[in-house]
Amino acid sequence: MADIIDVLIMGAGPAGLQAAVHAVRKKATVVVLGRPEKSAIYKAHVENYLCVPGVVDGAVLMETAVAQATSFGAQLIEEDILGVEQEGEFFKVESESKSFVARTLVIAIGTSRKKLKVPGEKKLAAKGVSYCVDCDANFYRNAKVVVVGDESAAVDGAITLTKYASEVTLITRDLSVSKGMADKLAASTVEIRSGAWVKEIVGENMVTGVILDDDSTLDVDGVFVELGSKGPMELATSIGVALDMETFSYIDTDKKQHTNIAGVYAAGDIAGQPYQMAKAVGEGCVAGWEAANYAKQQQRQQKA
Ligand SMILES: Cc1cc2nc3c(=O)[nH]c(=O)nc-3n(C[C@H](O)[C@H](O)[C@H](O)COP(=O)(O)OP(=O)(O)OC[C@H]3O[C@@H](n4cnc5c(N)ncnc54)[C@H](O)[C@@H]3O)c2cc1C
Repeated sequence: MADIIDVLIMGAGPAGLQAAVHAVRKKATVVVLGRPEKSAIYKAHVENYLCVPGVVDGAVLMETAVAQATSFGAQLIEEDILGVEQEGEFFKVESESKSFVARTLVIAIGTSRKKLKVPGEKKLAAKGVSYCVDCDANFYRNAKVVVVGDESAAVDGAITLTKYASEVTLITRDLSVSKGMADKLAASTVEIRSGAWVKEIVGENMVTGVILDDDSTLDVDGVFVELGSKGPMELATSIGVALDMETFSYIDTDKKQHTNIAGVYAAGDIAGQPYQMAKAVGEGCVAGWEAANYAKQQQRQQKA
């Protein structure tokens, strides 16, 4: 049988790496599986993370986090996980080239923002295209922006942006929100462009505008895509981890990041909103701590 790892961390973003730091410092053996450069924060410019003043590149934060976690003894393996199974008290995890047996799992595989999938979107991501109003609104002070979406996330984002940007337009095909939300929108300064959808985002190095599918154009500095989010849930649910009962869009945890399965913890974006680094590292800390304690307790019981 392969060596049994105390804590296997699925995901190498802020939640996973913080979990690694706290678990390894409790003398647990820790393996982190995932690619730091695929973290949502990697291409972001962060200015709301405590004790890190100014605007800092997400890539710099992640490089620092990797160095810190590995210097304490966590092992980072930059591979994707292909499957997870529970085998008695242990968990078997298959990555691209290896398999692992672990006493505990910390699921920290983030969530993927829904994309518009239009020309220009990928090229201009983080260059005027954003998927997070709370993260990026401050970069658009006195700018012209559009928010694209049909649901409450888009309306809420558009209203928030009116406190920063000089002009906010909500582009919606078919608005589907509660009356309360619709009333708030009506009372705001958000301009509504309904019935059309973005078919292209334009700009060379930064966003300069959008082209709609009625062939009209809007000159803007920023495009906020607010189509909700979908977590990479298949891995988590394959071992029976329960999702929240209302939206089934994130892993349900208690305050100690425990899931419904003993020995399995979840942290960060996969454990629900707000999608922020501060929340991810806070939850990662708790999850790593709890997982290390559980693994040690299991070892003691097996020796007794
Ligand atoms: C454009 C943008 C700007 C942002 N700006 C800010 C900001 O200014 N301030 C702020 O606080 N937050 C910001 N955020 C949010 C922040 O990035 C996230 O809240 C944070 O990264 C969540 O951390 P996480 O560890 O939960 O997930 P992630 O950082 O997304 O990390 C997920 C990890 O899981 C790995 N993974 C996924 N699937 C697998 C698999 N099958 N096998 C192995 N590994 C896998 C990935 O490779 C990655 O390493 C921003 C996000 C975006 C998209």
